[in-house]
Amino acid sequence: NSLKDKDLVHLKELGAGNYGSVLKVFHVPLQKTMARKIVSIDSKLTTQTQIIRELRIMHECRSPHIVEFYGAYLRSNNTVVLCMEYCNCGSVDKLANMLSDKAFPLSVLKVLLFSILSGLYYLYDTHKIIHRDIKPSNVLMTHRGEFKLCDFGVSRELTNSVALADTFVGTSTYMSPERIQGNMYSIKSDVWSTGLMLYELASGLSPWSDPEAGHLTGIRSSKVIGPEGILDLLQRIVNEQSPSLLNKEDQFTKKIFDSDMCRFIDKCLVKDEEHRLSPQDLLQDPFLESVAIGTFDKEVKCWAKLIRKQLKEDN
Ligand code: ADP
Ligand code: MG
Repeated sequence: NSLKDKDLVHLKELGAGNYGSVLKVFHVPLQKTMARKIVSIDSKLTTQTQIIRELRIMHECRSPHIVEFYGAYLRSNNTVVLCMEYCNCGSVDKLANMLSDKAFPLSVLKVLLFSILSGLYYLYDTHKIIHRDIKPSNVLMTHRGEFKLCDFGVSRELTNSVALADTFVGTSTYMSPERIQGNMYSIKSDVWSTGLMLYELASGLSPWSDPEAGHLTGIRSSKVIGPEGILDLLQRIVNEQSPSLLNKEDQFTKKIFDSDMCRFIDKCLVKDEEHRLSPQDLLQDPFLESVAIGTFDKEVKCWAKLIRKQLKEDN
């Protein structure tokens, strides 16, 4: 393909990650809105051919649960420009912030989870790729209320996600115990991250936050853990019992959390990777029963409509 700088009109900044910004752009010849991400590559670590091979895999990904990849081009100064599907409703971390003191509806969480697990299963089953960076900002929602994965680790170089460096600037960490300990990384590490994310979205709390501080330390806060807190946190993930929402009370509704959901989170957050289920197994879980046949689609669509309305008002 032949995407190039001069064909792209910059519309607005969608967000800045740890390594650069993502722009909403309009491709004039194709008359198509896209999201443009710039990633720098380490010229010492990667050869051009490896990058090209990896870009080809991204190109071949075709799934309703994966953000569509339109193409990429190299710039001279060790940067790759990636163009992908623009998702109207943005990433899940932003949705969580918009809700501020409301919980995600259970139907939305189910569809979200089903989409993440289906996406993970697709990437691994079809392309032998592990995502490696599941977190709320890498799950995007379209205007139709579909959830899609982006920024998967085709190569560590391309996703830019040096996990440890990430945690030094982020609010919380989604890294699994085995990853922190430097053990083999498998698709089940992504299941851990998915469980942690669900915990946060369902409760509005980070499982690692200080209970005294309440929801102010969760995903919906801008409180950043400094470097001095990170090592302590990583140690806690490895040594402490997994967090659980079972029999706990929702701070928003004051009701006990859905027990099927809690048990599902517990299954994702099994510390021993060998005993943790795979995405494929989890897709059969009672909690996700009937998501596949579209039971919640209408509800989620309506919810997406509401979100879109609020996004328009905020602008
Ligand atoms: P991070 O994922 O760590 O936040 P990124 O650089 O990957 O950093 O993305 C920055 C932000 O841009 C994301 O948080 C997300 O809100 C937004 N974003 C990224 N890709 C898209 C996309 N395809 N469509 C809409 N918004 C996007
Ligand atoms: Mg990202």
